Amino acid sequence: MMKKVVLLLSFSLTVLLIFSFRKSPVVLPAPPSMPLLHTIIVDAGHGGSAVGARGAYSFEKDTGRAIAMKLGKKMEEEFPDLKILYTRTSDVYPAIKARADFANANKGDLFVSIHVNAAPKIRHSKFTGYRTETYYTGKGKKKKKHTRKVPKYNVYYTDNPSNGTETFIWAADRTEAKEKSLGADIGEEIYDSTEFVPDINDPEFKAKALLWTKRFFDKSYMLATMVEDQFVQEGRLSRGVKQRNEKGIWVLQATSMPSILVETGFITHRPDEDYLNSESGQETIAQNILNAVKKYRQATEGK
Ligand SMILES: [Zn+2]
Repeated sequence: MMKKVVLLLSFSLTVLLIFSFRKSPVVLPAPPSMPLLHTIIVDAGHGGSAVGARGAYSFEKDTGRAIAMKLGKKMEEEFPDLKILYTRTSDVYPAIKARADFANANKGDLFVSIHVNAAPKIRHSKFTGYRTETYYTGKGKKKKKHTRKVPKYNVYYTDNPSNGTETFIWAADRTEAKEKSLGADIGEEIYDSTEFVPDINDPEFKAKALLWTKRFFDKSYMLATMVEDQFVQEGRLSRGVKQRNEKGIWVLQATSMPSILVETGFITHRPDEDYLNSESGQETIAQNILNAVKKYRQATEGK
């Protein structure tokens, strides 16, 4: 009985050996593919009648576009092997869904959206003394006139001191509470959130979200960190990498590729606004973002 088993075993082993030698050597599964960069989508936020954030003398749609155009030009020079595509180059407003569709249809490998931030003015109320107010009690013959002193306030507004840069990625996990602490203080209006609101219970959206979580989140986060690092090296104030979910930044959510949204400065902060509108400021911001993309390319492609 024992002998039979041993024989059978050795026979099976021989068969196995023959088969394994006959076949080509076992090929290990390839490491997860790191697709090379082919196409970068540059998105200048807002446009046309959607002016975006307003500064003392400029609109986000214009300063953002100027920076986006400089960034695109630098990318074209730096990466002659890549396709650089723009969601807009003039003062028009492509719908958010159209921007995402454009990026997806052109098989973008990276989506970089350029924006300018805003913070609401700060309201002040200063006590300036009392004024006399007249009021009445009772009705008819019993009606009586009274006076009382009420405080007077002078209400005025000053510019919000918020300044600096921040880069957004879409939150990969919408269930974690920690995200509530991230990016809660964004000054800018939620980016066109009313226009395109995906149904999070839609199976197609769920599948996309899962894919996004796995494949794009890390890359988006890496690039966003690199962008903010470059701003810090430039001496800018960085408010860091932030995530949005719930009310979301749909253009990031709807693009099937690593995507970032760069808030390049506060248009409501005068020194920032001057920087954002200056030729040298725009050049520097574009160069900072380009440097980050170069590093990102090195990290993802080993180049
Ligand atoms: Zn914006």
